[in-house]
Amino acid sequence: MMEKAEAMARDNEFLEFRLDYLSRPGLALPKIKQFTEYHPHVAVVATCRRLAGGGKFKGTIAAELDILGKAAAAGCQWVDVELQSAVRAKPQQLQRLRNSAALILSFHDFRATKSLEKTFGKMVAIPADFYKSVTTATTLYDNVVMMKFIEKNSDKHSLIGLCMGEQGIISRVLGLRAGSVFTFAAASEGEKTAPGQVTAQELRNTYRIEQVDAATRVYGVAGDPVSHSLSPAIMNAALRRETVNGVYLALHAKALKDLLACVRDIPIHGLSVTMPYKTAILRYLDNTDPYTTKIGACNTVVRAQDGKLYGFNTDTAGIVRPLQQRLELENAKVLVLGAGGAARAAVFGLKERGAEVYILNRTPGPARKLARSARARTLKRADLKKLSFDVIINATPVGMGNTRESPLKEDEIKARYLFEMIYDPPETRLMRLAKAVGAEVIPGIEMFVQQAARQFEIWTGKPAPVDDMQKVAMLALQEREAARPAKHSK
Ligand code: NAP
Repeated sequence: MMEKAEAMARDNEFLEFRLDYLSRPGLALPKIKQFTEYHPHVAVVATCRRLAGGGKFKGTIAAELDILGKAAAAGCQWVDVELQSAVRAKPQQLQRLRNSAALILSFHDFRATKSLEKTFGKMVAIPADFYKSVTTATTLYDNVVMMKFIEKNSDKHSLIGLCMGEQGIISRVLGLRAGSVFTFAAASEGEKTAPGQVTAQELRNTYRIEQVDAATRVYGVAGDPVSHSLSPAIMNAALRRETVNGVYLALHAKALKDLLACVRDIPIHGLSVTMPYKTAILRYLDNTDPYTTKIGACNTVVRAQDGKLYGFNTDTAGIVRPLQQRLELENAKVLVLGAGGAARAAVFGLKERGAEVYILNRTPGPARKLARSARARTLKRADLKKLSFDVIINATPVGMGNTRESPLKEDEIKARYLFEMIYDPPETRLMRLAKAVGAEVIPGIEMFVQQAARQFEIWTGKPAPVDDMQKVAMLALQEREAARPAKHSK
C-alpha cells in the first residue's frame, strides 16, 4: 500500500488509505506517519470500513474508531466513518475524532439508488464535516437522481455523491459539476475498490474531469452492451485534440426510455446509437436526415437547443469515405454481402454516388427488398465465381470474434478492393483470403473511425482529427488483442 501511495503521490494530491483491506491495519500506522511527514502536500483520507458498512474490517466499532484516531495522529487529515458505525458510536467518540481530523460521514448502498433524502436526514443528525452518499445505479436515470440530490443539498452541506456500477459513470464524471466536493477513482485497473470505479488516470486523461464545468457538453455512446465500445477512447481523444469543451461517456442503456430521460434532464447533447437501438430510436426523434429515413436506422442523435432530437446515419460516411479515398465510385461495380442495417447504409450511400451495386444475402427476401428500394441488383452465390468487382464489402457478422469463419471462399473473391466492416479481430479470415488473391484490403476500423469522425463533425461543426482518432482506435484494438491472445485462434 505504501509503495503504491509513493507512486501515486507524484501526480495525486489526494489519497485514500483503505486500512480495512489490511489484515492488521494498526501495523501500517508508523509507515503512514512517515508518508504524511514526507508528503505534506498530499491530503490523506483514512478509512477502515467495517463489514456491516460494506468494507472488510472485522473488528468492533470501537476498534475502527481507535484505528482512525491513530491514523489522524499519524497525519491523516480526513477520516471516513460509515453511517452504520456512526449511529452506534457515542457522540463524544466522534467529536474526539473530529478534533484531530475532518470527519466524512459515509453511506453506501450496494444495491440501488433510493431514499436518498431519507438517509441523508439520518446522516445530518450526526455532526460531520463532509457527508458522502454512494449508491448503485441500476438505470442511467439514477445518475440524474443522484445529481439532483447533490445540487439540492450541496449549498447547505459539504457533499460527496456518486453512483457505483457500470451505469454510474455519468455521476463519476459529472458529479463534481453538480456540487460534489470530490470524487473517487481507482489507483490502477486492478485496484478498484467499488464496482464501476474508473482509474484516476482515466478520469483525468480520458474524461478530463478537471476541465468539466457548467459549459461542458455531454456526449455518449448508448447501447446494450457498451462496455467494450472503442467510442469513448476515440471521441474523447478527438474532443481533447480539437479543444472542444465536451466529454463522451459509455451509456449502458437497458431501456430506451431510460436513456431518453437522461438526454432530456442531464442534458446530453449528442448520442452515438448502437445495438440494439438503431431502429427502435427512430420513433422518438423529431426529425431525421434522408439517409436515416431510407436506411431505417439511426446511429447519431443531436439534441438541439430547444430539446428537439435530430437523427442522422453516419455509417454511410463510414463506408463511402474510405472508398472515395481509393477509387472513383461513379460506375464502380460493388458487391455488398448482407442486407441488414450496415448493408443498407452501404447500398444507399454507394448508389447515390453512382456505383453499380449488387447485393448478396443469406436470405434472398431482404436482399430483393433492399435492391428494389435502392434500385440495386441481387445476385446468387453460384454466380460469384463468374463475376469480378471493383469492391466487395462484407456487411455480415460472419468472421466477427474469430479467425476461422469467412462469408466467402478464396475463389469467390474477385475484386480490386475488399472492404471488411468487422474490426474485431483487426484481421479477419476474409481479409487474409482477399490478400492472398491480391485484393487490397480496407479494414473495418476505417469505417468505424470515419463514421465517428462524421458524428464529431455533426456535433461540433469542426473537422474531425481523423488521423488521431485512427491511431487511438488502433491502439485500443491492439491492447484488446493483447489482453486475450488465445481467443481468436480457437
Ligand atoms: P444486421 O442488421 O443484423 O444484419 C446482418 C446481416 O448479415 C443480415 O443480412 C444477415 O442475413 C447476415 N448474416 C447474419 N449471419 C449470417 C451468417 N451466419 N451467414 C451469412 N449471412 C449472415 O447487422 P448490421 O448492423 O448490418 O451489421 C453487420 C456487420 O457490420 C456486423 O459485423 C457489424 O459489426 C458490422 N458493422 C461495422 C461497423 C463499423 O463501424 N465498422 C458499423 C456497423 C456495422 P439474413 O438476412 O439472412 O439474416
